[in-house]
Amino acid sequence: MISINKAIELIKKHATALNKSTVKKVEKAGGYLLSGHISSRINMPPFRQSAIDGYALNIHDDLNYNLIDEVKAGDNHQPTLKQGEAVRIFTGAAVPNSANTVIMQEKVQASNDKITIETPIKENSNIRPLGEQVKKGEIALKKGTKLTPAAIGYLLSLGITEVEVFKKPNIAIVTTGNELIEPGQELSYGKIYESNSKMLLSALYNLKFYDVKLYKVEDNYEATVSILNEAIENNDLVLISGGISVGDYDFVSKALKALKVKEVFYKVKQKPGKPLFYGTKSEKQIFALPGNPAAALTCFYVYVYIALQKFMNREDLELPRLNAKSISAFNKKGDRPQFLKAIYNHGEVEILEGQNSSMLQTFALSNALVFAPEEVTTIKEGDDIKVILLPN
Ligand code: AMP
Ligand code: MG
Repeated sequence: MISINKAIELIKKHATALNKSTVKKVEKAGGYLLSGHISSRINMPPFRQSAIDGYALNIHDDLNYNLIDEVKAGDNHQPTLKQGEAVRIFTGAAVPNSANTVIMQEKVQASNDKITIETPIKENSNIRPLGEQVKKGEIALKKGTKLTPAAIGYLLSLGITEVEVFKKPNIAIVTTGNELIEPGQELSYGKIYESNSKMLLSALYNLKFYDVKLYKVEDNYEATVSILNEAIENNDLVLISGGISVGDYDFVSKALKALKVKEVFYKVKQKPGKPLFYGTKSEKQIFALPGNPAAALTCFYVYVYIALQKFMNREDLELPRLNAKSISAFNKKGDRPQFLKAIYNHGEVEILEGQNSSMLQTFALSNALVFAPEEVTTIKEGDDIKVILLPN
């Protein structure tokens, strides 16, 4: 049995980035990281652009100008201004090459074909220069940039419609257990509804991992070997639910050995989630999560999350952690460090009743996990405690 810190360290060491790339439509690439630099094929803006509604001038020493034409956004004509001449212009319109500044309409007295400006204006005012944001051939966004909505808007503004990004992993969720019935079907004696697969699926969707396949297997050694083999062959990350404890019908550990999965660790000194297994088979990552639903989800957020981040070449490998003031008391039994379902709100955190690893009811109300280290036996109101924020 290893410590939580050791387990986290080992995942960070063994989980590798999935250095495969794929081409995506820009609008569908949100959350992905660029797998190469993107250079701009155009100057942005592509012409000298007016930043305001006003008048483009060819400056002279006098405050009076003759108005000779108009250019609105989208127009593609190019009036030629002599000194002392002006054109009416609007935001986003192309400033004629012969104009050397633009003045705001609020700072001008206008009549039919003349304008008088109130105060002299400097050259190049209110003009967005050609290529101000990025010049043709320059790097617009670097390799590794995360595609946020702003980045997507920026790429589209450069006319870019497809990007090469790091591929997200293909993920398998394998549920084990003879007692499990699909929700929606009749429940018979001794059976329970299967909830882990779609709970984990929803946690993955929430983190924008959509390529997920679900596999099911009964508590039978041969079947477990065969399904796990298929899941590992066809996916980059395999999450197994249940069957990893020491019961006579827990076959996952034995099956993983038979499939030559290299054990990185098995069993972590923690509550919930003691029987957690993590291993690799060449580039593939395999987690066997305890079947108890709250334990499975806790292990997902504390451990699987790190592997997911590594797959994506991301730098923040763990969920945000902070310190908060406890507004509840808690007595910890035993010496295992514990993750406790809790509600965090503005610097304060409430540890909830019902911490059993089989109970999702409490987890359903939580937005955080409190971490109670090994040496802590009681948490009192007012204590400063460590909190992990969940990405709900
Ligand atoms: P196991 O780790 O297989 O011994 O399972 C531990 C507990 O979690 C048992 O009470 C199981 O019935 C329950 N359990 C296992 N898998 C699931 C699942 N997919 N959905 C809901 N409960 C489960
Ligand atoms: Mg089981």
